Amino acid sequence: MRDQRLEGVWHVLAPDTPDTPLVLDSPHSGIEFPTEFRPIAPFADVRGPEDSFIHEIHSAAPGMGGVLLRALFPRIYIDPNRMARDLDPDQIDGDWPDPLEPGKKTAHGMGLIWSKAPSDADLYDRKLTVAEIKHRIETYLVPYQAKLKEELDRAFDHFGGVWHVNCHSMPRITTARGPEGKAGLIRPDFVIGTLDGEAAGEEFTELVRATLAGFGYDVRVNENYKGVELIRAFSDPAANRHSLQIEINRGLYMDEKSGWRSENFEILKGQMGEMIAVLADYAKAQVC
Ligand SMILES: [Zn+2]
Repeated sequence: MRDQRLEGVWHVLAPDTPDTPLVLDSPHSGIEFPTEFRPIAPFADVRGPEDSFIHEIHSAAPGMGGVLLRALFPRIYIDPNRMARDLDPDQIDGDWPDPLEPGKKTAHGMGLIWSKAPSDADLYDRKLTVAEIKHRIETYLVPYQAKLKEELDRAFDHFGGVWHVNCHSMPRITTARGPEGKAGLIRPDFVIGTLDGEAAGEEFTELVRATLAGFGYDVRVNENYKGVELIRAFSDPAANRHSLQIEINRGLYMDEKSGWRSENFEILKGQMGEMIAVLADYAKAQVC
């Protein structure tokens, strides 16, 4: 087994000899908080945006011939699923030397570098210096995105195609800051995002949808969660590079209040293992 790690940044588990061009990545399940991260919001609030246990839920991938990459740092410190220029000038102490392109989520404090905790409390009691932000981008964001690209390219070069699953979770209940724009709604069990078909072919998307629906789940496609940077950056379905995002409702596997796994955790993990087996076979069949 190939077991590689860039300390504090990413971890990869993959078979020595790849068996299928399937790559999974979990960019938001990291909990190694860098020492220089000193927010003023309480710990439980800071951990709210984390996709807790998501790499564990998908841990069957390497045993089925695919790659599992995960970020080790927390996404609230810097979010690898954003572009480096997705910053709000108001967050920065000093003049940023490059052009900025703050996205919609940045306006809500949920951009490249979060400024608000989920409770809406301020995350910091100060602006961040240009040097601090550059450090986060260069030490965490760039190496994570480069590693994902390397794994996708490795599979593509070997097999002539690649199928990428970008793995996430979503809180069970919506908040006013969420993509639904309304608080208090119960989210569906799963949402698959393909940037409205720009990042993944229809057949692959339908296979994921039908497999999850086959377990009895309520599965939506491109509804509120369409996917962000990591499925945009390296995908090209016409060239057989497919990327899609799967959002799992956290209510299916954890108690969001306490932060612990729920009784259903192993059941869901088993089902995701079954899904990965289906996708591993599919990806292999496309290139054989
Ligand atoms: Zn996520």
